[in-house]
Amino acid sequence: MNNRIINFNAGPAILPLEVLMEAQAEFLNYQQTGMSILEISHRSKPYEAINAEAEANMKEILGLGDNYRVLFLQGGASTQFAMVPMNFLPQGRTADYILTGAWSEKAMKEAKLFGNTHVAGTTAEGNYKRIPRMDEIQLSENPAYVHITSNNTIFGTQWNKLPSFGQVPLIADMSSDILNKPFDAENFAMIYAGAQKNLGPSGVTVVIIRKDLLENNPKTISAMMRYETHAKNDSMYNTPPVFSVYMLNLVLRWLKDQGGLSVIGKRNIAKAALVYDTIDQSSGFYRGHADADSRSLMNVTFRLPNEEQEKKFAKEAEEVGLIGLKGHRSVGGLRASIYNAMTLEGCQALKDFMLEFQRKNG
Ligand SMILES: *Cc1c(COP(=O)(O)O)cnc(C)c1O
Repeated sequence: MNNRIINFNAGPAILPLEVLMEAQAEFLNYQQTGMSILEISHRSKPYEAINAEAEANMKEILGLGDNYRVLFLQGGASTQFAMVPMNFLPQGRTADYILTGAWSEKAMKEAKLFGNTHVAGTTAEGNYKRIPRMDEIQLSENPAYVHITSNNTIFGTQWNKLPSFGQVPLIADMSSDILNKPFDAENFAMIYAGAQKNLGPSGVTVVIIRKDLLENNPKTISAMMRYETHAKNDSMYNTPPVFSVYMLNLVLRWLKDQGGLSVIGKRNIAKAALVYDTIDQSSGFYRGHADADSRSLMNVTFRLPNEEQEKKFAKEAEEVGLIGLKGHRSVGGLRASIYNAMTLEGCQALKDFMLEFQRKNG
């Protein structure tokens, strides 16, 4: 396996090696069917079993009971930006958005096409380097729902303490940190995530939804856009992304084998600490974008003294097999995405490289 590099890409991103090898081993002949999983009918027993197991695994990992459904949809998290207001923002009501980065801005922009929106909090000033404090959040009078982005992939910030707004349905885009550590999933009316960061390959979007939200979806919108349609048909109303759901299920099994969210959460804290400690102990050579109390366990964003050095860093890192470290253009600098599948050794290798780079260039 020594031709595999260390992959810090933001998404699609690293997958557990064990999962890739398992998929490889059964690729040509899935469970004695004589076919690849890519060639199987979604109406077949083997696929129905995968779909059901993936839903059960997700609920088990999150500790959710029968009052939730897990749906496997397409169109990415970006389609959820529209489906959420289409289903849950009736005429005359207002949806509240807490803006913590580019993805929450995009989510709210879509909601505006369907109804009234209210910015219940924003940290745009200061280029989204932190999560708002609870005392900075002002909900509208009677919001239809509150929408948050739990982890800001581009800016490298994360809600380290997830908010709660009592009876108001809370909806979260968790595309880049779902299952990164234990949290109270029942606090959410709905969670959605494109799989390609922390759950599997691209092509499937996971929607975890409380059943009461499936009851009054408007009948005037397209069947494909209604959550109720997908729930009633166990995510097989139309042809599902069979291979992506299969891979997602292998990742969920892997996560359970690792010991679930508490074990992965501790590991993620240790991994992130390797990189953040290096930043903090660099006497200002490395500067983190995020405020310390808003730092993400999944995406570490940092700058070097100048852009030239940032380019050099990314280039030389790539030469030693650390790839995907160039930051997003709206923040600049570097970004290390260290999702669940990134190993502690991978983060240690990054730390070693950072120390060496500073020694030579600092
Ligand atoms: C990547 C990302 C998205 C966009 O996901 P797509 O599946 O490409 O639509 C949305 N929100 C967050 C937080 C992301 O990280």
